[in-house]
Amino acid sequence: MSLLTRTSGGWFDDERRRALSEFLLPQRCLECGRFGAALHDECIERFPRAERPRCRVCWAPSRILVCERCALDDARDGFTELRTPFRFTGSVRRALLEAKFRGVTSLLPPLAHVAARSTQPSWCVEVVVPVPLAALRRRRRGFNQAELIAKAVGRTAGLMVATDRLARVREAQAQASLGAKERATNLEGVFTARGVAGARVLLVDDVSTTGSTLDEAARALRGAGASAVFALAVARED
Ligand SMILES: [Zn+2]
Ligand SMILES: [Zn+2]
Repeated sequence: MSLLTRTSGGWFDDERRRALSEFLLPQRCLECGRFGAALHDECIERFPRAERPRCRVCWAPSRILVCERCALDDARDGFTELRTPFRFTGSVRRALLEAKFRGVTSLLPPLAHVAARSTQPSWCVEVVVPVPLAALRRRRRGFNQAELIAKAVGRTAGLMVATDRLARVREAQAQASLGAKERATNLEGVFTARGVAGARVLLVDDVSTTGSTLDEAARALRGAGASAVFALAVARED
């Protein structure tokens, strides 16, 4: 895996590597166990969806159009809207964790294709930017799951994917493990952005927990001149 990854961008890009592994190892669906795909379309149909009603800004469960938290935040400088087709539970959680920690990256494109359908035509995005890992973590893991999802979203939506516009300077602590006070400063200065002046950006991640990582990454993109940032994650923790 790491050997093939090191040549990514060359002959063994993600697509070819997947094709090769499918040829060598017939794929078995994580959900139903039948051969033929990492995840069948009909199996994904049964995955837990992040159903409405939800806040049109942050996509948190909400009975009103814009949730209280977003309504109070009148100086929003992060993402304009977030969409997440699935809830991070059951088979979705299992698939994303298998991809992330066991390297079963063939699970990501089928989920990303569904996620791509959650983007809104009104967003008019021009470029897809994945949430980056810090360089050391990226090297150790050999891939960035958000980047693989972003590439599949880009293919589905016919959009350019740029992996050099956003960098993660350091890893932050998991927001969920912190108190309110620490949360507010934990993500400060984690991301730097460049080359997005005037662009409408689609920011992509695998999972959104509190939405604050996507918001902070969006803030960095806006700070570098992006005219708007819309966010997409495969799944969310409600
Ligand atoms: Zn299946
Ligand atoms: Zn909201």
